[in-house]
Amino acid sequence: MHLPRRQFIHLLSATAVWAMIGRRSRAADAPAAAPIRPAVKLRNPCVAIQLGGVSLVDEGIEPVLDFLRDKARVNTIWFNTYTWDHGTGGRQIEGFPFPDHGVQVYDNDFVGGAVFDYDRRYFERTILSEFRSPDYQGRNLLAELLPKARERGLDVVAWDFFYPNDFNPKKLKHLDRVVEIDVHGRPTWAPCNNNPDWRQHMYGRVEVYLRQYPELAGIAWGQERMGPLMNLIGGGWTQPFVSCFCPHCLRKAEERNLSVERAREGFIALEKLLAAAHASERPVDGYFVTFWRLLSQYPEILAWEKLWTDSYHETRADVYRIAKSIAPEKPLGFHILHQATLSPFYRAEEDYAETATYADFVKPAMYNVAGGERMASFLDRISGTIFHDAKPEDVLPFYYKIMNYDEAAFTELPRAGLSAGYVARETRRVLDAVQGRIAVYPGIDVGVPGRGKQVTPQDVRASVQAVFASGAPGIVLSRKYSEMKLANLAAAGDALREAGLV
Ligand SMILES: [Zn+2]
Repeated sequence: MHLPRRQFIHLLSATAVWAMIGRRSRAADAPAAAPIRPAVKLRNPCVAIQLGGVSLVDEGIEPVLDFLRDKARVNTIWFNTYTWDHGTGGRQIEGFPFPDHGVQVYDNDFVGGAVFDYDRRYFERTILSEFRSPDYQGRNLLAELLPKARERGLDVVAWDFFYPNDFNPKKLKHLDRVVEIDVHGRPTWAPCNNNPDWRQHMYGRVEVYLRQYPELAGIAWGQERMGPLMNLIGGGWTQPFVSCFCPHCLRKAEERNLSVERAREGFIALEKLLAAAHASERPVDGYFVTFWRLLSQYPEILAWEKLWTDSYHETRADVYRIAKSIAPEKPLGFHILHQATLSPFYRAEEDYAETATYADFVKPAMYNVAGGERMASFLDRISGTIFHDAKPEDVLPFYYKIMNYDEAAFTELPRAGLSAGYVARETRRVLDAVQGRIAVYPGIDVGVPGRGKQVTPQDVRASVQAVFASGAPGIVLSRKYSEMKLANLAAAGDALREAGLV
């Protein structure tokens, strides 16, 4: 292809970041790398921030947008349209200091739900049709935000997030009818991804965003969940549970010729092993060997985990398929939980090459500063279960090798946090996995609350540099504006400007 020099330079500047990825991808795997779906409209670079409704109410829509555009150099608002979780919705979590803006009172009465009005006809096929948030006097914050963002040249993406923390039937009517059933036949508090009502509750929201709010630029979808094996061996739930054994999942198991009874037996034996680990009652062959023996005696444990994971990924693929059937040009992508960077076991279940077949972008969470404490907690948990013959500090050097990390010593991790090098390595890993087929927008830590190291402007600057130097075409400032200090946000803007990206 021969282009006049001027045209060539114009093309270069418009696609500089993509070209960088393109070169990486083509060099690595020329025939397999399909181009990103050409019809999808992506910002380049995409500089996004996660923003919850409370900040619009507390601080006013226009001042917030002006700051984000002018100082943080944001061009895309991931507006948290749906959540029940204080990690993405509401003000700062109680017990952590407020940032230097917003109302300085903890909102422990935060409920969650949809901060937008929706047409009930999209939810005729589900009992979960009443989920309008009672917060903020029922204001339709999405409708209020859209025109003000447009005036400022900002894209708004529906940031739809589900995490079952503190989630209970009081919040969502009929939740108790769609929850997962554990291995002992008891209801849990987390909805089942094979429950048709829960699925229609998700799919209806996709329709609302694209049909009822055509000004939305796209959808960012997040459901933070893990299967029964992950929950047991290092998931981090306060009370890990083994699920799901509801009638929908049993039917699906039957289709796979998977023995329910064998799966039950296996998981109950595994629960007993982990209880023994908790009590430090070492089995004759130690914890890990006994764990592995159980997996070989009961391959149904892994098969049930796969049934769970496949179902979870099916919901993501369905969400994508529905969105594309309505608005193929609007990007839809997925938030990938932080655990994918912390647990080698969970990492194995998040295959980015596979996700790239049903996404336009991914946002892998790489919360590095809070990540030190989180990584230490994961190592603690895994050393409390299947690696209980070892201490976390014994596991650490080997863990760094297999995860391709080079971070602080175990006892230093919370105080040190994870470095920008971790962000760079994870960014490159995901880029290499998706081979240029989809965009990768790492979610970086701009003040995720934790007991360890606190985020500084230098940290944010280093993370932003790491993301773009690694070849990603965008970034998501995480987790929510209401927990971020203004100086940290301004540091993101400075780094972007210095890199010539904005
Ligand atoms: Zn189920």
